[in-house]
Amino acid sequence: MTDAATTRPGTRRPDAEVVDLCAELIRIDTTNFGPGVDGPGERAGAEYVAAKLDEVGIDCTLYESEPRRTTLVADFAPEGTEPGAEPLLIHGHLDVVPADAADWTVDPFAGELRDGMVWGRGAVDMKDFDAMVLSVVRDRVRTGRAPRRPLRLIFTADEEAGGVLGADWLVRNHPETVEGCTHAIGEVGGFSLTVRDDLRLYLVQTAEKGMAWLKLIADGTAGHGSMRNDDNAVTELAAAVARIGSHRWPHRITDAQRAFLDAIADAWQVELDPDDVETTLARLGSIARMVGATMSNTANPTMLQAGYKVNVIPGRATAGLDGRIVPGGDEEFFATLSELLGDKVRYEIDVHSSGIETEFAGGLADAMQASLAAEDPHARAVPFLMSGGTDAKAWHRMGVRCFGFAPLRLPPELDFVGMFHGVDERVPTDSLEFGARVLDRFLDLA
Ligand SMILES: [Zn+2]
Repeated sequence: MTDAATTRPGTRRPDAEVVDLCAELIRIDTTNFGPGVDGPGERAGAEYVAAKLDEVGIDCTLYESEPRRTTLVADFAPEGTEPGAEPLLIHGHLDVVPADAADWTVDPFAGELRDGMVWGRGAVDMKDFDAMVLSVVRDRVRTGRAPRRPLRLIFTADEEAGGVLGADWLVRNHPETVEGCTHAIGEVGGFSLTVRDDLRLYLVQTAEKGMAWLKLIADGTAGHGSMRNDDNAVTELAAAVARIGSHRWPHRITDAQRAFLDAIADAWQVELDPDDVETTLARLGSIARMVGATMSNTANPTMLQAGYKVNVIPGRATAGLDGRIVPGGDEEFFATLSELLGDKVRYEIDVHSSGIETEFAGGLADAMQASLAAEDPHARAVPFLMSGGTDAKAWHRMGVRCFGFAPLRLPPELDFVGMFHGVDERVPTDSLEFGARVLDRFLDLA
């Protein structure tokens, strides 16, 4: 195509703006420092998105859970969508994790273009996808192309701190904003994993682990440090923490995990030894870090507290425990934990959310494969279970089936998983443009 053809009014160009939009979003600092620490908030980011949608005639509603903690909701439901089709929820978060400029090669909030990449905090998590959505929707308005279904666009606050002031707050206080939506796409997934020149797997998140942040408590008999004490809280707690920390959780392979492992075995033409899956996973390079933790429940002791003076036995000792639970694994997790804790140590739940899982099947899954293959003939979409959590959990509670699908064709040498929350976070510009074109095709089929 010549330049004249690509810029002619009415010509489809869904990827035209995606690089600029991504760089501009990165330049708006939306750092989320977590609960209790004041930051810039997401308002400036939400206002930027609102302005870009307003420019093409799409109205937005902004919601604030707290001052500057802004979530944006908009409908794109032009004439021409299929009558009666439920809206497709497309979500992206606006906040980013902190970045310490001293560690970076570039200013993390400059949105610099260098070596064919956009650099900066949020380049892959997840202002890349926010930009794709904007670029595609704006192009569709300009060229008068309706998606198959109406779209419900939600750009959230606070995803990086669990969505308490974002997605979670939204569904609690404004459940009508996701009403009617049965399916959603957002993070994390859709990125490529190169097997060989003629085969790339695109990992679509269909499941994510749950979370149990617990406080372990041992109560004993306080007393003088010089006396015998058979009811010492520190001793009891330490023993329980050691049992939990060294426990080998049995593999629990969920359907999504099974499908992923089968796809890996098929792609690399290897037999998967169910007792030694780690060896096979090691072939995956950096992705193995993400996948390795999804084979079983995990429980890591992370904090310890007891005592105030060396010659005083305290009456209580406590520990913090970070548990991650495979979908459907809650009962086993808590039963095993109770056994490991023993009689003298109990737990209180600070945070608990169950894992979620949906089947990689149906019209949306077909649309993902077809739209990827149209832009990359060597694409194969495969489901996977993610070890971390996303806003998907909030939508899931409202009955929405969630897929992580933010398409990116990546160069094989890029340590993509390391980019998430990493130093020198960056994304190739042609990966962004690829993603926008795939997303655009997807909206015709989904
Ligand atoms: Zn994210």
